[in-house]
Amino acid sequence: MILKLINHAEEYAVREIAASFFPKIKFEFSDDTKGGDYIVSEYSFFNEKHIYTAYASLGGKYAQVSFEEAYYNKTLIKKSVAHILEEITGIHLPWGVLTGIRPSKIIRELKLSGKTDIESKEYLKSFYMTDEKKAELACRVENNEAAIIDNMKKDGISLYIGIPFCPTRCLYCSFTSQSIDFSNKLTEPYVEALKKEIKAVSKNNFIKNRSIETVYFGGGTPSALSSNQIDDIIRCLKESFDLKNAKEITFEAGRPDTITKDKLEVLKEHGITRISINPQTAKDETLKLIGRKHTNDLFLKSFKLARDMGFEHINCDIIAGLPEETEEDFKKTLKMLEKLSPESVTIHTMCIKHGSYLDMKYDMYSMTAANTVNNMLDTAQRYMKKLGFKPYYMYRQKNMLGNLENVGYCKNNHECIYNIYIMEEVESIIALGAGGSTKLVSNGRIERVFNVKEVAEYIKRIDEMIERKENLMKEFC
Ligand code: SF4
Repeated sequence: MILKLINHAEEYAVREIAASFFPKIKFEFSDDTKGGDYIVSEYSFFNEKHIYTAYASLGGKYAQVSFEEAYYNKTLIKKSVAHILEEITGIHLPWGVLTGIRPSKIIRELKLSGKTDIESKEYLKSFYMTDEKKAELACRVENNEAAIIDNMKKDGISLYIGIPFCPTRCLYCSFTSQSIDFSNKLTEPYVEALKKEIKAVSKNNFIKNRSIETVYFGGGTPSALSSNQIDDIIRCLKESFDLKNAKEITFEAGRPDTITKDKLEVLKEHGITRISINPQTAKDETLKLIGRKHTNDLFLKSFKLARDMGFEHINCDIIAGLPEETEEDFKKTLKMLEKLSPESVTIHTMCIKHGSYLDMKYDMYSMTAANTVNNMLDTAQRYMKKLGFKPYYMYRQKNMLGNLENVGYCKNNHECIYNIYIMEEVESIIALGAGGSTKLVSNGRIERVFNVKEVAEYIKRIDEMIERKENLMKEFC
């Protein structure tokens, strides 16, 4: 499809909105709109007025809009394009033209500037064309987050430990996770490199003057390692850092096919406070389709095992809009969770991540329509409310179906604090391991430093990874 810009260079903004309506269409910027489908976005300044115009011809349908404002803003360009595409396609974007920035962060900033909840909600609706329901969700998330952020320790920091191995790669995954079968040889050297990074970083003065508030083992699937390797890493972490005052330690045991009694015993012994066991769906056919080598029955057994062993906070992740799934399938997954009663549930929207198998073989799958996915999320929201769960964190990613959202729900006092800190960028997070992204936060200043993603590279360049982090921490001491 041809995209044409006149008098402005907001190519990314226009492309982003057009892609929300047509997820996999290739756009070409050109002046030649003769013949085929096209979208034109035009900006002009006349008589002290900023004029935003958009028109499009798609599949024989034509729409046009033009409005003036007293100021220039690229969101207004997005709005003009969204208006005509909604008219032509009949597709409605529940978040309107709100992309990139986290909705709860906008609400937080508005409230810090003195706005009430109602005024903040109205702002999302009028400026970004956000629906009432989504604006309300953003407000609820912000209110719940605020209660945690207000209790943050002044000298607190969080740790992230990355374990980039998984039993197999899921259809929709773009993480640099290595299949444990193919990379078995790398796990031991990886554990050694990670321990080296843990020990070295823990000696830095930046760390010594601060207290560890939360710890998060993510990946990949950390439970893909053996129980001895898990024990080795946690032991090293505890010897290096003072974790006595940590409010929570989360361990992602996401794939039921990696969970064994001896691994859970190691986690229990080390005082892990929260684990995540993720069904994604209760439907076996979908699990097979998305490349997860476990059945729903195995998920149920793993959940029961963890519960019987005394884990008091279990989180479950599920996905709305998995290929070939209906609203009925999704409701069955919700009903299963109701019976299990985990302490928190994270509901993701299907996302076509760049570099995933799904992205590469998109045409082979029947994807759920954006409006249906939004219905699934609405159902989930009502369901969670009925069960007494509250939405406590939320984020959105590029290329999510319908440009929708991922929301973490929890029972009272069962928020994952780390999730809030990382989303709202309110606390420094030191990330150790391949692909780790360290973020240092101080008085509004945020700086990042990254570890390489490739496992073999990480092992080879471990000294450089340590040095990179030390250089940044020096600046924040
Ligand atoms: S379990 Fe998570 S990290 Fe591992 S392949 Fe699946 S989506 Fe990727």
